[in-house]
Amino acid sequence: MNKLQILVVEDDAPVRNLITTTLKAHDYRFIAAAAGEAAVMETASHNPDIILLDLGLPDMDGVDVITRIRSWSNVPIIVISARSEDSSKIDALDAGADDYLTKPFSVDELLARLRVTQRRLALIQSSNSQQAVFVNGQLRIDFASGCAYLNEEEMRLTPIEYKLLCLLAQNTGKVLTHKFITQNVWGSSWENDVASLRVFMATLRKKLEKAPGSPQYIQTHIGIGYRMLKIE
Ligand code: CA
Repeated sequence: MNKLQILVVEDDAPVRNLITTTLKAHDYRFIAAAAGEAAVMETASHNPDIILLDLGLPDMDGVDVITRIRSWSNVPIIVISARSEDSSKIDALDAGADDYLTKPFSVDELLARLRVTQRRLALIQSSNSQQAVFVNGQLRIDFASGCAYLNEEEMRLTPIEYKLLCLLAQNTGKVLTHKFITQNVWGSSWENDVASLRVFMATLRKKLEKAPGSPQYIQTHIGIGYRMLKIE
């Protein structure tokens, strides 16, 4: 049913086999590469729908693979990294990756990430032109008038909360790092900005989420950043 084509980039054969077997069982098409240079070539020649990219590759850094691919393609990229590689995960997200999986991961986790990314893909394809109004669940943002509504009621947001909300909305489905967010909202990314970001995120959530403790719209990625989820 899916029939999306996934490019699997992983030099570790058992992990690669686990991934491709899972994809096959769930009706995805796939191609595989065991190195960075091959990944760039496969992307250029097959134009996959989603890339699963291991960051530790034998010939080049996974982050450089992302930079190369991003020079011509917006294909969603999910990076795969070891738990000890948190900083390279953040570098990968800043270089343009959409999401990440941490090794060891379960088949269910892999499939869940693919579903989130498929929704993001649908969103990217349906909004090729910048839209004036954003709708997600009960949230509506009218960019032209600079107003956000929840359940058709105007939200009372401070300018920074509104900026934050717009940034997350315009990147729905993508994990945004603290650095990316603070650079876009404040124009800098000092330690202080990250601390302020936490405060503004808490006040924004109080206004947006029914239960700020179990948020529906904005997901926290501890030590990494935030993501707006597409509400079904
Ligand atoms: Ca590896």
